[in-house]
Amino acid sequence: MKSQLLASPGQRVGTSPGQPPVPARRNPTRGRFAAQHRRRMFRTDMLTVALWASLAAALALWLADGGMSSVGNLTQAVTAVGILAGLAGMDLVFLMLLLAARLPFVDGAVGHDRALEFHRKLGKPALYLLLAHGLLLATGYGMAEGLNPVSEAVALWTLVPDMWLAFVSMALFIAVVVTSLVAVRHRFPYEFWYFVHLLTYLAVAVALPHQFSVGGLFAEGTWQRWYWLLLYIGTGSALAWFRIARPVIATYRHQLTVRRVVPLVPGVFSIEMSGLRLNELSGNGGRFFVWRFLAPGMWWQAHPFSLSAEPQVGKSSRQPTLRITVRNLGAGSARLASLKPGTKVAIEGPYGVFSTAARSREHVVMIGAGIGITPLRALLESTPFAPGQATVLLRCSSTEELFLGDEILELCRKRGATLFHLTGPRSANTQSAWLPASAGTSRLRDFVPDITDADVYICGPSAWARLVLAEAKASGVREEQLHYERFDW
Ligand SMILES: Cc1cc2nc3c(=O)[nH]c(=O)nc-3n(C[C@H](O)[C@H](O)[C@H](O)COP(=O)(O)OP(=O)(O)OC[C@H]3O[C@@H](n4cnc5c(N)ncnc54)[C@H](O)[C@@H]3O)c2cc1C
Repeated sequence: MKSQLLASPGQRVGTSPGQPPVPARRNPTRGRFAAQHRRRMFRTDMLTVALWASLAAALALWLADGGMSSVGNLTQAVTAVGILAGLAGMDLVFLMLLLAARLPFVDGAVGHDRALEFHRKLGKPALYLLLAHGLLLATGYGMAEGLNPVSEAVALWTLVPDMWLAFVSMALFIAVVVTSLVAVRHRFPYEFWYFVHLLTYLAVAVALPHQFSVGGLFAEGTWQRWYWLLLYIGTGSALAWFRIARPVIATYRHQLTVRRVVPLVPGVFSIEMSGLRLNELSGNGGRFFVWRFLAPGMWWQAHPFSLSAEPQVGKSSRQPTLRITVRNLGAGSARLASLKPGTKVAIEGPYGVFSTAARSREHVVMIGAGIGITPLRALLESTPFAPGQATVLLRCSSTEELFLGDEILELCRKRGATLFHLTGPRSANTQSAWLPASAGTSRLRDFVPDITDADVYICGPSAWARLVLAEAKASGVREEQLHYERFDW
């Protein structure tokens, strides 16, 4: 069923359905979010530059060491390519670690999920480069000594100090990348994958000794050695600070405690928490934290959950409160329904740019399905817009799945947003399969004619979200106006 629940107070502008979409401008030239958007795009561009620059710098280490002059025949060429592959491969590993380190600069520019998406994309190239490094060096050294690559590898393992550690490192990298492949990953619980993934740190650490003791590139006293050491120290410090120290400090600072668990419908419940200095966590819309509930059988699992309401911290609120809304999607989240008041909570975050920080335009569109509706509720509460500048589309198969629907209706009424309930079984029309069958031939632009002039926030099941994203892009919305939160990994 398609139902517009609230009339839009403002006059609509933009193309009408049936007209070809007009692509949006890359950067809005005016409006209160234009400068913020330009800054974010600049930071994104800087990240791309930094990424390529670090790769170029890794290769330049070898060139500056007179690498090219050492290539006089095929044997030396194979060895040289092997060295370059190792440098580039390790550089990608450092970049991957930094992308996963939750650096505020990266999170604020591209968001945590896109940073992790890119981290994942680098996994295979990094492994291929490291494998090529091992194979080419075994071949090159073997050619120089008249040995085949296997005998050369055995000789390297047994005779060259620290080389066995390089082999261990390679085995660990292979284990990490293989368990991260989608087909393999989903066969195991998240925690198994996570603990195997932690081996990356060990793999990076045990790779270091052979880098410094074998070959002359990183010999003692060279600036190349200092550069490489700085990469190690910088990456390690970023991880230690942002992934360990900051969460411990935040947990101590905010002293979060479960206040109550409120059931909504079977399998879905809200968890309210009280704590200290919650105003420092406000204004974040639907950003997420990684929560660890410190109760028996639960403390060892950390779950990302988005805020489903702005923190209640004003004078009117008797007790400052944070709220998340959880759908039981597995054993870990199901257990949370039985949380007792008073349970202590450890946090990491807030993370992501599913918030006002990603706004670029005055108009805003929020499209949610299933449990993905709940972070939109928090965003709707806080993100600035004038009456008539916001449209909310909630997709669910039955009204029972309209989580926090009453609160959203009330907020839309109060703030002058247009609200559509898109309820019922999905459409068989593959072009608009994210809509219910009752929507007929309607498309996104029929609900939001001026969508090219808006920021579009999307949260819901991945397959569904992909269809909405595709339609938004086909309607002329630019990539940087699309903000989506993935709830899966
Ligand atoms: C950024 C983000 C925000 C989220 N916000 C919400 C929310 O507001 N409400 C809500 O109900 N759910 C949310 N989720 C999903 C929620 O984190 C998982 O459903 C939950 O962790 C499942 O745990 P489990 O042990 O019950 O499930 P499992 O049985 O281990 O797995 C069930 C599903 O949950 C996913 N999952 C499990 N652990 C994690 C993890 N640590 N990180 C990422 N995915 C995991 C798996 O992909 C799997 O599909 C969010 C996820 C992400 C990544």
